[in-house]
Amino acid sequence: MKKILVLFAIVLICPSLTAQGQDRRWQASETEWYHPVPPVVTPGEGVVGTKPPSDAIILFDGTDFSAWVGRDGEEVKWKIVGDAMVVEPGTGDIWTKEAFGDCQLYIEWRTPAVIEGDGQNRGNSGVFLQNTYEVQILDSYNNPTYVNGQAGSIYKQKAPKVNASKPPGEWQVFEIIWRAPRFGTDGTLEEPARITVVHNGILIHDNYELKGHTPHTGLPRYTPHGRLPIRLQDHSTPNEFRNIWIRNL
Ligand code: MG
Repeated sequence: MKKILVLFAIVLICPSLTAQGQDRRWQASETEWYHPVPPVVTPGEGVVGTKPPSDAIILFDGTDFSAWVGRDGEEVKWKIVGDAMVVEPGTGDIWTKEAFGDCQLYIEWRTPAVIEGDGQNRGNSGVFLQNTYEVQILDSYNNPTYVNGQAGSIYKQKAPKVNASKPPGEWQVFEIIWRAPRFGTDGTLEEPARITVVHNGILIHDNYELKGHTPHTGLPRYTPHGRLPIRLQDHSTPNEFRNIWIRNL
């Protein structure tokens, strides 16, 4: 009987402990995991360069930033060099003008050929689905960091199944299948977001169910929202992007 009472008390107390856990002050390092390290897989040849299909919305074809907007709704201050857009460090993230929900996103990216810094300070950027959920971009070629922060991770939530990174300076590609979270009219979560990611032709997330947003500090949680833009991150590294297209699902 005593045992049952104790169990009952624990069940009652646990939810409030969890709630307090959400509100306490977190150190960023508390949500950084170092094991297990995803095995390295060398991508095959010819995995970059898929041309958009006929029903795709072109987000960037190398010519201009017409599909994008910068910080505070101002024009994009990143540069276009050749057929690529280049992060201009310090000018801020950029957002698609159009908002998206369920989608298939294709995006090519590369980190600088000249290596500077290490860990999170080497080739950091990111693709944010619905402005909220980051698929990490990083130079993760011989560059150890916390595994849920390496290239292809769902930032601070889920390490990629494998490390499919190419060397710095080489073009890489993410193919992302995104199912947006569903919220009830009262704002409660009805269905978490789900994501499948193929990095350089290799599956790194298979219909992963997100726990919420992807904060640098603290735990993921959901805040109700509808369709929102895709965001690309300025993390003070002159990373490049090209050949970006999307299909509504
Ligand atoms: Mg990032």
